[in-house]
Amino acid sequence: MMTAPSSPAPFEGHPPQGLPLRGVGGVFQRFTKHVILPEDPEGCFILDTSEKAKGYPGFGIAGKCYRGNRVAWMLFHGAIPAGSHVLHRCDNRRCVRPDHLFLGTNKINCEDMTRKGRSRFGERNSNVRLSPDDVIAIRDTYSKGGITQAELGKRYGVSQSTAHCVITRKKWKHLDVGIKNV
Ligand SMILES: [Zn+2]
Repeated sequence: MMTAPSSPAPFEGHPPQGLPLRGVGGVFQRFTKHVILPEDPEGCFILDTSEKAKGYPGFGIAGKCYRGNRVAWMLFHGAIPAGSHVLHRCDNRRCVRPDHLFLGTNKINCEDMTRKGRSRFGERNSNVRLSPDDVIAIRDTYSKGGITQAELGKRYGVSQSTAHCVITRKKWKHLDVGIKNV
């Protein structure tokens, strides 16, 4: 049993996104009770709660419901900087596995670029540095495993968030050529 302050006072009147949650008021123990661990050592940790928060499994803290992935980030990594999103490498909204999560401000950009990609065929977009061959190769390599999105991004000279958008088909969806979804 971890020792933790008994008072939930740090949450009173504050949304917790700015606070590291570890050690606060038994949140950690309560959260982990709802997490289903996978048999696959690389698999997703599924948050199994009946609450929902904006399409994500929710978790209640001090009377408010928060997205499970945000709570997991704060428990394992610390505070979420203002304006940042907690994103999934695995594209599984129910996943709260700390190493499947990453911080980004790219969510909106990612969606923006999807729209541009649809209307302007991705590769002609001036922001885009990947060729169609790169996109297909990134997805193919990632689906074979053993490499992270960050490493793939580095290999192709793009950010991890761009690699994420490519792999999860938030960008260049029109380049899908029947490669199995990852
Ligand atoms: Zn996951």
